[in-house]
Amino acid sequence: MMNKESIQYERQREEMVRSQLESRGIKDPAVLAAFRKVPRHFFVSEALRDQAYGDYPLPIGQQQTISQPYIVAEMTQALELRPNDRVLEIGTGSGYQAAILAEIVYRVYTIERLRPLYLQARSLFDEFKYHNIVTRCADGTNGWQEQSPFDAIVITAGAPKVPEVLIRQLAVGGRLVIPVGNQHTQDLIKIYRDENGTRQFSLGGCRFVKLVGEHGWKQV
Ligand code: SAH
Repeated sequence: MMNKESIQYERQREEMVRSQLESRGIKDPAVLAAFRKVPRHFFVSEALRDQAYGDYPLPIGQQQTISQPYIVAEMTQALELRPNDRVLEIGTGSGYQAAILAEIVYRVYTIERLRPLYLQARSLFDEFKYHNIVTRCADGTNGWQEQSPFDAIVITAGAPKVPEVLIRQLAVGGRLVIPVGNQHTQDLIKIYRDENGTRQFSLGGCRFVKLVGEHGWKQV
């Protein structure tokens, strides 16, 4: 049974998919279906719930943000996901991107360095029964060696450069998406790994909070 509130959010979600994603060229049916399903309003604080489907990022505490819906969709589509993929996300944050990934692929591994955000996301995954999301509280710039190689890796925080260690944890045929640049603006970069090495493409400009860690920015 759906109550009045959830019907209202479902309408807002449908409107978001049409006006922010489809109209801007998001086409992958699995990506669009995931956005129609995941209740984004539960991934922000109660006070911001009515703004959850807006065309902008929102604060999630700890000076971090949940990304604008379109950028989450663009990154997810760029990963070219298939149902059996195992995906690594670095920067769990609210958990929203991980939930989107979990709707599309077999298993998601996600790492968050800040314990309060890690705990909050973990409890949401349990509440919404995302049993295929494996979480870890650590510096994600080292990747997750024991679970590698990954079919896709997405870094949802801005890095000064591409951490080489992450490329080594990418399967042959794998895709990696990462914002690279200075602290104010970054270029969204997509890397393919094949038998011969890697190929790199730019997807355009973006703005993320800092990737802080051994192979990221050294300070907050
Ligand atoms: N994917 C998130 C976006 C969160 S913002 C979402 O859907 O809400 C980026 C997150 O990356 C922040 O929570 C920040 O704490 C985290 N982060 C920054 N550097 C990190 C690192 N080295 N390892 C893991 N997480 C990191």
